[in-house]
Amino acid sequence: MRFTVLTLFPEMVLQGCSHGVVGQAVHDGKIRVETLNPRDWTTDVHHTVDDRPFGGGDGMVMLPGPLESAVAKAVSGCSVPPRKIYLSARGRPFTDQLARELVASPEVILLCGRYGGVDQRLLEAEEFEEVSIGDYVLSGGELAALVLIDAVGRHVPGVLGNALSAENESFAVGLLEHPQFTRPRQWRDLEVPEILLGGNHAKIRQWRHHLAILITAQTRPELLANLSVREVREALARLDQLAESVRRATGLKDVEGIRLRLERRLEMAVSP
Ligand code: SAH
Repeated sequence: MRFTVLTLFPEMVLQGCSHGVVGQAVHDGKIRVETLNPRDWTTDVHHTVDDRPFGGGDGMVMLPGPLESAVAKAVSGCSVPPRKIYLSARGRPFTDQLARELVASPEVILLCGRYGGVDQRLLEAEEFEEVSIGDYVLSGGELAALVLIDAVGRHVPGVLGNALSAENESFAVGLLEHPQFTRPRQWRDLEVPEILLGGNHAKIRQWRHHLAILITAQTRPELLANLSVREVREALARLDQLAESVRRATGLKDVEGIRLRLERRLEMAVSP
């Protein structure tokens, strides 16, 4: 798939896509990342891309003209109708679900704002969807575009070495990921939970699933809505069995809070 990024800072985007898993995927041609700079379509000597807002107020606004030309250039290079996204604090929240949806689009155009934002008429006329990476304000859309490219890129077939790895990660099953451990078995006064050393893969899978539920209950209880009553009951039972040392090593600090939230989830399930 191809991302065409409209940005005043192309190096920032290209540099950000040149490392790790995404960098390798770009190198292998599994993902293409190209940039277009609206400044290249300015006609005045100062190469102006922004101006003061009508109605007054702080911050400059990006002119529609240079962006219009950059969008036209981006669209003309697309073999299929592109998905057009404006990275924006006002947008709908970016989620793993949207990342998976975007993988189905071979062409994605990403518009990065700067200053106070972009003239709204450009966004309307070119039918941009607005997507936010979180409830805070960045000084530009480039970091947001990189976040989106990275999270979407991981779902492109063949980008993650082991196709299964994305399926076990946080959010893949609507839960946060279970805790992970590597060598040494004993580090400081913390031990790797015994069950992970035993080699019984069915048991390990179950344990990890229960721990994922407990971790989710601790940090993101609203995600528990995705679970069946049986899973919640099993996780509660597991919580009671966990030794103090395992709780410490796995980061389950708020045991009473976890119990309360799981019990509340069960009550919700039985009440009409
Ligand atoms: N005045 C705007 C913020 C402009 S910040 C507002 O109040 O909403 C400059 C640019 O940074 C924006 O045009 C947008 O492209 C990008 N940006 C800022 N916060 C973002 C966020 N949470 N998610 C995605 N893009 C963001």
